[in-house]
Amino acid sequence: MLSADFLKLGEEIDMINESDADWFHLDVMDGRFVPNISYGMPIIAQMKKRATKTFDVHLMVVDPERYLEDFKKAGADYLTVHYETGYHIHRTLTSIRALGMKAGLSINPHTPVEMVQDIIQDIDLLLVMSINPGFGGQKFLPLTFNKIRQAKELINKAGASTLIEIDGGVTLENAGDILAAGADVLVAGNTVFSAQDPKDAIKRLKQAGK
Ligand code: ZN
Repeated sequence: MLSADFLKLGEEIDMINESDADWFHLDVMDGRFVPNISYGMPIIAQMKKRATKTFDVHLMVVDPERYLEDFKKAGADYLTVHYETGYHIHRTLTSIRALGMKAGLSINPHTPVEMVQDIIQDIDLLLVMSINPGFGGQKFLPLTFNKIRQAKELINKAGASTLIEIDGGVTLENAGDILAAGADVLVAGNTVFSAQDPKDAIKRLKQAGK
């Protein structure tokens, strides 16, 4: 939703509601973990009133454990924190589930997949960043393909049901390859909102996996 036109946010939400998209992906940036500042709980709570699909909230903030309850109240269904933000990520993931949300963990491009190996059963959604978060207009990093395959193997080996989500630089051209590597969830901002026909772009992204 960061790529949406916020002056017509209601219409943008309706478009997603009517489209083939499964979830809303909401990027929260604090100006510390990443250079940019986006939006926070009040905007998400307002969007939740109009939206009819799952809210996938991606926290790019330091000390995310301070805000878990606030985002639950704002309407998060999935709440994702960054591995790089904390000393006690496992406790944070446990707290997210205890609040009744699905627990997501994100890893930046420099963080090896095996860092999450021991806690994979406690992760509902593994968000593999395919760009460095916080800067717009970046190209998909090819090293991501290997990370997706490693993550899939790790999840299968553990018998976990963790979903693999890819965020950053997803286009109509690379979506098929990303899904073929083992990704379950694709985040697409510019590809959808910059398209002439956003609903058609969503439909084509969904078809890329078939
Ligand atoms: Zn995101």
